[in-house]
Amino acid sequence: MSNHPKNNTDIKEIYKKLDAELASINPGCNACGTCCHFNEFGHVLYASTVETDYIRENVEIPSFDPDDNVCPFLVNYECSIRDHRALGCRVFFCNPQYKETLQGIYEKYYTMIKDLAIEDKVEWYYAPMMKLLEKKQQKNQL
Ligand code: SF4
Ligand code: SF4
Repeated sequence: MSNHPKNNTDIKEIYKKLDAELASINPGCNACGTCCHFNEFGHVLYASTVETDYIRENVEIPSFDPDDNVCPFLVNYECSIRDHRALGCRVFFCNPQYKETLQGIYEKYYTMIKDLAIEDKVEWYYAPMMKLLEKKQQKNQL
């Protein structure tokens, strides 16, 4: 079984719809980058292999130390891969007032991405994003 989606256009479309939906509710974010320091923020970012494959196919994954538990794409407190970042990155806003609404949006788009994996018959793993990126890093070094 392949672990690459046949067509990245589909996930791009899903992200486009998601971003439009989020813009319409506008939970607010000052792009401080704190939530991308996972230990400091007390937060685990989960992603699927469909999302991490999309990242890997579009940007180079820098080498990183998994023990730091800081996203390797955070550069000077800014996300360096905004167009390709994962669902959880897009949907996370620290404003507690939006917690339930955002949870519902997350579940809706998670299902759309999973359906894409089923349609395209690609492997599906869902795990902390740092673990999935670490695996890819190890594969790239072989
Ligand atoms: S969601 Fe909150 S913590 Fe994360 S970057 Fe935006 S303002 Fe900062
Ligand atoms: S991909 Fe970007 S938004 Fe997502 S955790 Fe990494 S730096 Fe933050």
